[in-house]
Amino acid sequence: MNDFVHMTLEKVHQTAFKACVGNGCSDDQARAIADIVTAAERDECKSHGLFRIPFYIRAIKSGRVAPRAVPTVTDLAPGVVKVDGHDGFAPLALEMGAAPLVARAREHGIAALCLRNVFHISALWPEVERVAEQGLVAFAFTAAMSSVAPAGGTKPIYGTNPMAFAWPRPGRPPLVFDQASSACARGEIQLRLRAGEALPPGWAIGPDGEPTTDPEAALAGAQLPFGGHKGAALALMVELLAGALIGDVFSYESKALDNANTGAPKGGEFMIAIDPARCVGEAERGAQLDRAETLFSMILEQEGTRLPSDRRFAARRRTPTEGITIPQSLHEELTAS
Ligand code: NDP
Repeated sequence: MNDFVHMTLEKVHQTAFKACVGNGCSDDQARAIADIVTAAERDECKSHGLFRIPFYIRAIKSGRVAPRAVPTVTDLAPGVVKVDGHDGFAPLALEMGAAPLVARAREHGIAALCLRNVFHISALWPEVERVAEQGLVAFAFTAAMSSVAPAGGTKPIYGTNPMAFAWPRPGRPPLVFDQASSACARGEIQLRLRAGEALPPGWAIGPDGEPTTDPEAALAGAQLPFGGHKGAALALMVELLAGALIGDVFSYESKALDNANTGAPKGGEFMIAIDPARCVGEAERGAQLDRAETLFSMILEQEGTRLPSDRRFAARRRTPTEGITIPQSLHEELTAS
């Protein structure tokens, strides 16, 4: 029996939009969520695709989210833009912040965006890619629900705290990486629990503080940062940038607030955009991007290499004609909601 349902990307968008509007989102909030979810399905980033719609719906039902919120954009300083999501979802607020961030970066050479009071920040590549498509270098950081222990510690404090970077490439999509600062995504542990599989060593410690390969013990204990103290330092940096710096919650505060356990926590995001043309003299402009292409070619000359984001872009070329599949059970949940 086929346990999967085939869908076109148009159908993905319609399904996400309808589920969000049907549960109380404004058309603008629902459309922005549907755009992000469809982009994730298109790029085969399943953990941020239609699978996430039930999280949005649970968050609405918890009563803590404002699904009809209209974000506002203000200038905090000549090169610092604030987007207040007013307790709505992140996608619309991020979309509204992109143009002012790009404009300020072109004007000043470098600019920052402080995204506050939003729920359910998704993968970070859509927002850095959007900025790099306009010729700028971009960074993004967000703190998640606490599940990762600090280096040497045994109790969760940090989230899986992802960070993303995008570099513009002439005539082609930007180079993008987007990665958590934990050894693995939390979903990887949940998937292994369901499959009855052990975890690779180094992913987690149990509630007793000892290393574990048991998924259940790992979920009850703490995840570990990637690369020991080096990943932990990056997770700490992300907490400071996306929490203290912009006046939003730390991961442990976000977890405490999500007492309904919606999986769509409150959190902030910090972005930086840099205009390459403003980092060198006029005579050197353009050469920066050519030099980057030389470096990328050297990497790819080595067998076994690829550039970060190449997997996504390969999927992006395929799925508009081939479509995607989702589990039957998820399809039923979405169409019934
Ligand atoms: P992965 O480890 O799967 O991938 C990290 C990056 O490495 C990607 O850019 C990927 O590119 C690239 N990459 C993977 N393999 C190679 C390779 N062999 N050579 C070169 N580059 C490679 O990501 P994570 O599991 O750490 O994170 C997954 C997603 O989850 C991210 O989008 C992240 O933002 C999101 N996330 C969101 C959180 C939130 O609270 N909002 C919390 C934690 C994670 P490619 O995509 O092309 O494979």
